[in-house]
Amino acid sequence: MIPTVQVIGAGLAGSEAALQMADRGIRVKLYEMRPQTGTEIHETPFAGEMVCSNSLGSTELHSASGLLKAELELLGSRFLQTAAQFRVPAGSSFSVDRHQLAENMESTLAAHPGIEMIREETRELPETDVPVIVATGPLTSPVFARHLTRFTQRRHLFFYDATSPIIRSDSIDFFRVFRGTRYDKGEADFLNIPLAEGNYHAFVSELVKAETVELPDFEKGIFFEACLPVEEIARRGPMSLAFGPMKPVGLKDPRTGHMPFAAIQLRRDNIRETLYQMVGFQTRLKWKEQKRIFRTLPGLEAAEFERFGRMHRNTYINAPLILDATGRARRRDSLFFAGQISGVEGYVESICSGLLAGRQMSRHLTGRPLVPLPGETACGALLDYVSSAEWKNFRPTKFSFGLLAPLELSRESRKLSKRERKEQLAQRALETLDQWIRRQEF
Ligand SMILES: Cc1cc2nc3c(=O)[nH]c(=O)nc-3n(C[C@H](O)[C@H](O)[C@H](O)COP(=O)(O)OP(=O)(O)OC[C@H]3O[C@@H](n4cnc5c(N)ncnc54)[C@H](O)[C@@H]3O)c2cc1C
Repeated sequence: MIPTVQVIGAGLAGSEAALQMADRGIRVKLYEMRPQTGTEIHETPFAGEMVCSNSLGSTELHSASGLLKAELELLGSRFLQTAAQFRVPAGSSFSVDRHQLAENMESTLAAHPGIEMIREETRELPETDVPVIVATGPLTSPVFARHLTRFTQRRHLFFYDATSPIIRSDSIDFFRVFRGTRYDKGEADFLNIPLAEGNYHAFVSELVKAETVELPDFEKGIFFEACLPVEEIARRGPMSLAFGPMKPVGLKDPRTGHMPFAAIQLRRDNIRETLYQMVGFQTRLKWKEQKRIFRTLPGLEAAEFERFGRMHRNTYINAPLILDATGRARRRDSLFFAGQISGVEGYVESICSGLLAGRQMSRHLTGRPLVPLPGETACGALLDYVSSAEWKNFRPTKFSFGLLAPLELSRESRKLSKRERKEQLAQRALETLDQWIRRQEF
């Protein structure tokens, strides 16, 4: 007999996973701690609540979110099918009435004969022989999070998200920066932005007076010394950055032959070298301020930001060490992680990982092999990145075109605009996925 699956957390990922399995005849117990135990952000007692913005992003295929949603439609996402009934007019953005949507998700789950909803906080991982999908989200209850550290080992479960901006390589002026590592150790994988004394002080003075995002009360005072926002460091004194994330020691600018007064390092963020992250620049400056101030740096005048820096409570595992490309725990066959806790970031990404965890678990329980999705597809590229990224600096990740396997560039396609290239990538992704679904009977 096929065992019942326990899904922990009826958020975006958990609801999607539960419906995918129940539709395939797998019985599901879906645990949700609300309304008895709330989170800092959820407003309703309902399943599948979108906690903040009411937008699921653009529907245009040349946008990352548009492609991801198009793939989820092909894969038969139950969350998106329900969301479509509650769309509100918002141009090309897929925006919804999020409270009505959550109420409807709740009744859909409750009415499904294969799903038993249990309103209870899960405090521990069930026994190893029970199939489980953990989908407790960024605001996982503290008791359960503490218990999970036994499985993940303490240093591989993070409670706060501190991210630095990520910049697209093709928007960096490589003539104004130099490659190199401190004391020339190892490969010259860093890009360095040298600053003269006057430029450094001008930069610091902009940072300290820039507008920051107001944090809700629960997030105030949570900064760890190890990941202080860069503007907080700057406020501690005019030279604190020059002795911190902007220290120049060990660097020599090849154009002057000297160590610069200060330097900002950019670290490669992906294997394909399409993205660079600003090292030690976690920040809660408003996005427009990040754009304005970081674009004053030499080489970044035209910088395009793949992701802006930000800080908030966020529980997530160090996925590259814990998961394989199907979302399954490497150390436990019948345990999957889905949604934001699994290392993806965003509503649509969470739905995607919930759908895939539900489908892969169904295959696992019916004796069929688990199959990672192709790297040419958005869903496949996202899970591939999450399970294979550089673990030391791992942060929850949104899907972006930079994660896809690159296009074979013909002479003609080299002349394509950025948008046309994305359209080609999207078309290839959807064709690949369509064929793959049929071939794998996924
Ligand atoms: C403050 C904040 C704002 C965000 N805003 C956006 C945004 O605007 N756009 C966007 O794309 N993304 C946003 N995100 C990121 C992310 O997309 C959402 O958090 C998304 O809801 C994640 O989906 P999920 O299914 O992983 O988690 P959730 O949707 O949060 O679902 C997890 C569920 O698990 C339950 N739960 C937790 N612990 C337990 C337990 N021990 N036992 C039983 N149940 C439990 C929770 O009550 C919750 O219902 C935001 C995140 C945060 C923290």
